[in-house]
Amino acid sequence: MANVGMANVMVIGSINMDVVNRVHRHPRPGETVHGLGTSYHPGGKGANQAVAAARADARVTMVGAVGTDGFGDELITNLQRAGVDTAAVLRKEGTSGLAFIDVDDAGENLIILSAGANGKLSPSDLVAARPLFAGADIVLLQNEIPWETTRAAIAAAHDAGVRVCLNPAPAFAVPADVLPLLHLLAVNETEAEAVSGVKVTDDARAAEAAAQLVAAGAEAVLLTLGGDGVLYRDRGGRSIRLPAYPVDVVDTTGAGDTFIGAFAAEWVRTGDVAAALHFAAAAAAISVTRPGAQASIPARAEIEAFLA
Ligand code: ADP
Repeated sequence: MANVGMANVMVIGSINMDVVNRVHRHPRPGETVHGLGTSYHPGGKGANQAVAAARADARVTMVGAVGTDGFGDELITNLQRAGVDTAAVLRKEGTSGLAFIDVDDAGENLIILSAGANGKLSPSDLVAARPLFAGADIVLLQNEIPWETTRAAIAAAHDAGVRVCLNPAPAFAVPADVLPLLHLLAVNETEAEAVSGVKVTDDARAAEAAAQLVAAGAEAVLLTLGGDGVLYRDRGGRSIRLPAYPVDVVDTTGAGDTFIGAFAAEWVRTGDVAAALHFAAAAAAISVTRPGAQASIPARAEIEAFLA
């Protein structure tokens, strides 16, 4: 029986300003190319996933940090405008997290991440946030804050009986003892390879990577495959493979974050994995048709209209 209450989603992660340059093609090392224009977009994997869940109508609490620079206020205001509770967002002396993103004519991106305040979020900062776990159904974590903080968050969520979703991005090899603590391991092809060692080159390899990650302890694995869609697999032996919705791609920045935030919100709300996968695939498909990370994330009404 589906539970159609409201999902309470907690995100502990990064908050960035994305500085986006459009180029016809990416420069090679040592080469200079002309940019086609620069724009500023609030981003960061944590904040993106928080906004995606909030636009999907979840109640979302963000735990993170911004700097004392001019971007800090703007980033907090932006999260609030999306309906995210920012009471647990800290200010750290220095710059906010910055992502320098180059997008070429094919919509492919190259990203340099400057951690700023995100790099200063420490395990001790989580102590004040501990009471928030009591009201959460799921906590979403990524890899843009110090790993020791993410690791402490996983332990705290586990102790509080809150479901844990880890998206190990940027990619890294998640320690083996952490995998059994995860209710959901969300990875793209690169991250799947970093964690499982299996290079995801086709459907068979995707299935092999997902099976291996479940065997290593993750309760469920969400393997996003870009324009090829998604593969879900869980410990109960359920395997669901969905193609991506065909759309005209403008900018894929934040596609994975949109998918994860929307999936978490819908999965927790309804308990229906298949429906949540369709919902998230639609949200991500809409997001790749427009520029930016957070700015491109659709609201529930638009996602439902897309699916209708
Ligand atoms: P990441 O942004 O983490 O690299 P992916 O590239 O795997 O993540 O994309 C996440 C999801 O976004 C995919 O599973 C798919 O649903 C959607 N998506 C990505 N690229 C496209 C595309 N070209 N067309 C339609 N949907 C896409």
